[in-house]
Amino acid sequence: MTIHDYYTNWGISQAIIELAGETEEQVQSQFRKIEAVRAVNQLKVLAALQSAHFSESDLGGSSGYGYDDRGRMRLEEAYAKAMGAEKALVRWQISSGTHALSLCLFGILRPGDEILSVAGELYDTMQPVLGRGLEGQDQGSLADFDIHFRALPLTQEGHVDFKLLPGSIRPETRMIWIQRSRGYMNRPALLIDEIAEVVRTCRAVNPDLVIVCDNCYGEFVDDREPCEVGVDLVAGSLIKNPGGGIAQTGGYVAGRADLVEKAAQRLTAPGVGSEIGPTLGFTRQMAQGFYQAPHVVGECLKGLVFTSALLERLGYETSPGPFDHRSDIVQVLRFDTADELIAFCKSIQASSPVDSFVSPVPGDMPGYDSPVIMAAGAFVQGSSMELSADGPLRAPYTAFMQGGIVYENIKLAAMAAAEAMRRKRE
Ligand SMILES: *Cc1c(COP(=O)(O)O)cnc(C)c1O
Repeated sequence: MTIHDYYTNWGISQAIIELAGETEEQVQSQFRKIEAVRAVNQLKVLAALQSAHFSESDLGGSSGYGYDDRGRMRLEEAYAKAMGAEKALVRWQISSGTHALSLCLFGILRPGDEILSVAGELYDTMQPVLGRGLEGQDQGSLADFDIHFRALPLTQEGHVDFKLLPGSIRPETRMIWIQRSRGYMNRPALLIDEIAEVVRTCRAVNPDLVIVCDNCYGEFVDDREPCEVGVDLVAGSLIKNPGGGIAQTGGYVAGRADLVEKAAQRLTAPGVGSEIGPTLGFTRQMAQGFYQAPHVVGECLKGLVFTSALLERLGYETSPGPFDHRSDIVQVLRFDTADELIAFCKSIQASSPVDSFVSPVPGDMPGYDSPVIMAAGAFVQGSSMELSADGPLRAPYTAFMQGGIVYENIKLAAMAAAEAMRRKRE
């Protein structure tokens, strides 16, 4: 069968096949840029793995306390090097991005300290960590420890307000928080140059501030990582970018050695910190995923650029646009009706390698005042390195599309979605 036959079998019309061909031509210059960044990151990771002296025999894993687990130590050394950090903690015992970020907060902050977010409100799952919605419930949130949070609102255009930033740092401000990715917010991701500017601005006011970057969705999207421009600490999830779609769970923290160790003391217990942590059999998949992560992120970015360009040609608003500089793996698409949003998510689901035969339906979600539709057909539950899409059914009908490991698959999903939109208009 030819490629054309496969597309036809998936119900994609000649019109969309042709439009996809033109779209792919249109974005070639973007693809070359993505490939250039990917090449830098791929060599960065390869060099980091080599310099850590990985040996096949290190990858089997340890049990019990996991003292002196060589594979674990070498993977952490490689992570640190690739992230431009002094030290890293890379553990399957860190169960999510929220968990990794919490370790940074609880490990470093002390009663009376304040966190200042430079890019508005935090990602939804971070809200209870701060204490929001848990008032008076004694669940061990930061607020229960008298640790406070303040957010500097973004400018009208959705950028960091550099005019107000210096004056908003108070004596009790101990930590600066930079959420790189847009998450589910209506703002662009922070570019590495903007992150560098935040670091310069904050250090000028108080050189002792601890500057932390929520790097979830951001790893290997650009040719530098936040610690390379002066951020003290980054953290993220291994079922997002740095796990390369292979790690089945895990999280990481990387940065200044003393701060990483404080996060480790919180993960295990004060006194043992990063010294314990059995790897069982997980080091191999975490290392292999890390090795492939730059490649996978490149595939994902090409797929998102293609999707953005294709839907823009059909008249939809997309953010980032196909030619915008990206700093995360989130693509926002704006539809005219709830019907179109549902059709989009159904097309993503139907194009997935797993659960392609199920059809997503909108449902109620805690924390949302309108039903949400979610599409994901992933090998790893909840993995957003793998292609997924979701959106609340309220105006403006916005789909958040994340990830995708294989360009051809993301392209097919976008074409199936374009076909669904075309049919709706007829
Ligand atoms: C995903 C994400 C988180 C939380 O990670 P989980 O693995 O879902 O807990 C935090 N911040 C940002 C920007 C994210 O994208």
